[in-house]
Amino acid sequence: MTKIPHRLYLTEEQMPKQWYNLRADMKEQPDPMLNPATFQPATEEELYPVFCEKLAHQEMDGATRYVDIPEEIQEFYKMYRPSPLIRAYNLEKALDTPAKIYYKFEGNNTSGSHKLNSAIAQAYYAKEQGLKGLTTETGAGQWGTALAEACAYYHLPLTVYMVKCSYEQKPFRKAIIETFDADIVPSPSMTTNAGRAILAEHPDTSGSLGCAISEAVEKAVSTPGYKYVLGSVLNQVLLHQSVIGLESKTAMEILGEYPDIVIGCAGGGSNLGGLIAPFMQDKLTGKADPRIVAVEPASCPSLTRGRYAYDYCDTGKVTPLARMYTLGCGFIPSANHAGGLRYHGMSPILSKLYHDGYMEAVSVEQTKVFEAAIMFAKQETILPAPESAHAIRAAVDEALKCKESGEAKTILFGLTGTGYFDMNAYSSYLAGSMSDYIPTDEELAVGFAGLPKIPGIQE
Ligand SMILES: *Cc1c(COP(=O)(O)O)cnc(C)c1O
Repeated sequence: MTKIPHRLYLTEEQMPKQWYNLRADMKEQPDPMLNPATFQPATEEELYPVFCEKLAHQEMDGATRYVDIPEEIQEFYKMYRPSPLIRAYNLEKALDTPAKIYYKFEGNNTSGSHKLNSAIAQAYYAKEQGLKGLTTETGAGQWGTALAEACAYYHLPLTVYMVKCSYEQKPFRKAIIETFDADIVPSPSMTTNAGRAILAEHPDTSGSLGCAISEAVEKAVSTPGYKYVLGSVLNQVLLHQSVIGLESKTAMEILGEYPDIVIGCAGGGSNLGGLIAPFMQDKLTGKADPRIVAVEPASCPSLTRGRYAYDYCDTGKVTPLARMYTLGCGFIPSANHAGGLRYHGMSPILSKLYHDGYMEAVSVEQTKVFEAAIMFAKQETILPAPESAHAIRAAVDEALKCKESGEAKTILFGLTGTGYFDMNAYSSYLAGSMSDYIPTDEELAVGFAGLPKIPGIQE
């Protein structure tokens, strides 16, 4: 038998020409988004003031199974895709496991993450609609960077509201985002009513994702020709990210492999939803039955300890409501949490699949995550993003179980990105000063108490 190569890159011919829409194969659809003013199911047209029309259409379209990837986007993808499918030979050896471990590495572009896959699609549709510019928010900075790259490609002005504490901790994110000609504003700022109101009340606040979303949405709706875009959670983002899973599945087919377990980290759910898409299709259609595992931080446990309920997608409560696993839109993870994945909710598609028993979820503590990150870096030579290291942790744990049982399972996990901007967190782990924080049930109850009351739907 010939040895399976270390890295497999598809040829341009083998790269996907269509995205795959998982909803088309779901037995039951996720519950509809609700208009925050009326609590009635939102229509596509109601999304137009905030979103590009084609993207609003993708958001609402649960029926079209395959969506052509516009040729311009395919060409853009070729600059940094295919991403490699890598066999973790060294990690397997270090773990002394009979398991075969594969990972799909999405960090090989300047944003350092999978986010560019959707950023270029969103910028393309914005340009096609003749928009004058876009706004967005960014937490850790990967999404802001990815969207700045995509907007620079289409000469589309972009304003990024970056959570202030993250802006101050990661000064080089500003430099990269400005390299691609985007404006970056630490949030809360004096440039919007939302920002001014928060600053008047809390002049020393270090900001939050929810506040940055409110500023970005306000700026978009108050600037003619501008729209707002989001880098995770939404159905359209999972659609674009399906390129990860489609490439992975083709590559595994070429190798004659099929995963027994597919693992991904889960913040808003976009990389996980993209990676698992064609494998979940096999599961939904009865062709195969891989285990699918979402990994989240113990400090922000939306799937493992959240409620499946209607909630706002932002803290400012300006967005439509989605039925999802949520900790409540007011939930803010403990300040010592360094590992990303801080979103209070979860993709409605993944939430529905999890609720219906098609997926498992585990939560992991951040010191265990960094332990796995450093072991992985030394074996595989890639410095992983802390977010990605959640998936590494779970893959390592599964491989160790195989060592115990002697089973040679095939594990596939998503390595979403690199961690060069997270060296403060690495330093703190290496210095032994990183700690874990797991919220108590009482603390989570505060977030649940704030869930919206919707007459007839959620009392
Ligand atoms: C944004 C990000 C994530 C989490 O977002 P999802 O939408 O859950 O995929 C994970 N890893 C990296 C590197 C990221 O930048």
